[in-house]
Amino acid sequence: MSRTACLVLVLLSAASAARADTPERGLAGLDEIYPKLDALYIDLHKSPELSMKEEKTAARLASELKALGYQVTTAVGGTGVVGVLKNGAGPTVLLRTEIDALPIEEKTGLPYASTAKAVDLNGKTQPAMHACGHDIHMAGWTGAAALLARHKDLWHGTVVMIGQPGEEIVQGARAMIGDSLFKRFPKPDFAIAVHDSSDEPAGKVLIVPGFGMASVDSVDITVFGRGGHGARPHKTIDPVVVAARTVLALQTLVSREKDPLEPAVITVGSIHGGTKHNIIPDEVKLQITVRTYSPSVRKQLLEGIARIAKAEAASANAPREPEIKISESQDATYNDPALARRLETALAARLGKANVVEGKPDMVAEDFGELGKAAGAPSVLIRIGAVEPKNPSRSRPKQCRGVSAQSHRAIEVQPVRSRRQHRHDFGREDRSVSNVRFRAPRAPVRRHR
Ligand code: ZN
Repeated sequence: MSRTACLVLVLLSAASAARADTPERGLAGLDEIYPKLDALYIDLHKSPELSMKEEKTAARLASELKALGYQVTTAVGGTGVVGVLKNGAGPTVLLRTEIDALPIEEKTGLPYASTAKAVDLNGKTQPAMHACGHDIHMAGWTGAAALLARHKDLWHGTVVMIGQPGEEIVQGARAMIGDSLFKRFPKPDFAIAVHDSSDEPAGKVLIVPGFGMASVDSVDITVFGRGGHGARPHKTIDPVVVAARTVLALQTLVSREKDPLEPAVITVGSIHGGTKHNIIPDEVKLQITVRTYSPSVRKQLLEGIARIAKAEAASANAPREPEIKISESQDATYNDPALARRLETALAARLGKANVVEGKPDMVAEDFGELGKAAGAPSVLIRIGAVEPKNPSRSRPKQCRGVSAQSHRAIEVQPVRSRRQHRHDFGREDRSVSNVRFRAPRAPVRRHR
């Protein structure tokens, strides 16, 4: 009872303070540290590293947190970084940034464009770029860490800063959890992350209560045939033709077999086979991404892909069945509605109601939800606009970084209830698939998973 009374008192005092001067006071010093955040962003942008190989990036973030007085541990789940700042009794809040980049050559022409090459998990050297905006997230996250350390008089509890590797291959969150993340470090009552949005102008914040991002499965198929001379096709079994038929037939899973009201995507992103015009190869490889929200639709599509691939091979009298491998699997990302509403209120108080809007579910994917699930804590991933308002083809990382730091900080100065109190107030969350709003997703411009 005294615990509840204490919570209510804290809530009341913090809630009133948050509406008045606490957010402003909590943000004091942002202008002063901003040049350093900008320099950090540029450095990170110029030196991207690929998934699960982010050694230098992790070391940079660890040194930033150490300098701020955080208790820092590196090499958690590979290259993960954990920074803990304890500030008396109170709830524990987890703030996550991703630290990996994508194997893409940068063609923006920006003065600080990446010319870096980086080694991937398979040991292959690739061009690398922070095309997904994780450099923005890291800079904003570092700014939030700095403001939290500076204004310890305005909050109480524990902050757990997570620098998560391997988000682009949806491995990092599970790798950190598998390395006893929540046994070695304080278990959060709330987990929060931000991701930039290529659809919205800088200055806007998007919150999607309920399901916000799709599940993902990567499927690799090898179609087998019997190679030979291109001028004598009757002596071969042509895997290029079988693969082509397979690609087209797979689309009928989405258009003809699944419920039209269930969102789903099947994209064949890569098809490779053969070496020369007049040689029919022995095999062709397909790489496919599958996006859904409903677990039953996900199962239906994955089973359908295997069925169609095998049937097309059989119809061509292929010498053997196709090989099918599923990897990079990740469940849909669920934003706790009650926490989403609280964060919306906190952010709207600082950024203005018109700038904090309800976003739409998207077919991109994330592994951040694993952290909240493993901790048994409500979690929310917020999107922040990253597009130049009058020129949608250009991103505007500078303003975006400012909002990112402000978003993290505004979240922190709000009253934070314990998980028990949260459940008491809001009951069990509705995690049913019907929670997803079925609106047509817009195609992302910037790359995301
Ligand atoms: Zn991303």
